[in-house]
Amino acid sequence: DPRLQTISDAIRVIPHFPKTGIMFQDITTLLLDPVAFKHVVDIFVDRYKHMNISLVAGVEARGFIFGPPIALAIGAKFVPLRKPGKLPGRVISEDYELEYGNDRLEMSMEAVKTHERALVIDDLVATGGTLSASINLLGAEVVECACVVGLPKFKGECRLKGKPLYVLVEPS
Ligand code: IMP
Repeated sequence: DPRLQTISDAIRVIPHFPKTGIMFQDITTLLLDPVAFKHVVDIFVDRYKHMNISLVAGVEARGFIFGPPIALAIGAKFVPLRKPGKLPGRVISEDYELEYGNDRLEMSMEAVKTHERALVIDDLVATGGTLSASINLLGAEVVECACVVGLPKFKGECRLKGKPLYVLVEPS
């Protein structure tokens, strides 16, 4: 698919951000390119529009950029999975490990009904820790996890409890 090269070319790589040794994949340059941004949404929408998905969950913060246009196009609800203390009302939370330390995601208790079929969206998967926490939090049938960028050397797919992972580009 020639659109994948356009998407890959639109992602900027920033060495040593946010700390030394990290090659940061910056999707904000992709957002500045409406052709590349639309390719991302179109590819995901084509893949998921006939999978009976009722819920798209986006991980804060960049899952909030890609999730909603996909949810609207496939006729699904959008559920934000947020950093601690941001959501009002009753929430459920899931702790997970980062490379250094721990983090937590929260979701509104009333967001998921029984028998929902969910898609989890984020910008990037590395170790899969964030997606794994998202799967636990949703408690729904997660049909697939989808990211714009995958970093295969971290083997994130192994942490997804058998759920499929779909990524568009893998930087070399
Ligand atoms: P994981 O939990 O190790 O799979 O890391 C994925 C999470 O870290 C996602 O929420 C990403 O947004 C974030 N992340 C890690 N590395 C990068 C990067 O290079 N660019 C953008 N986000 C990143």
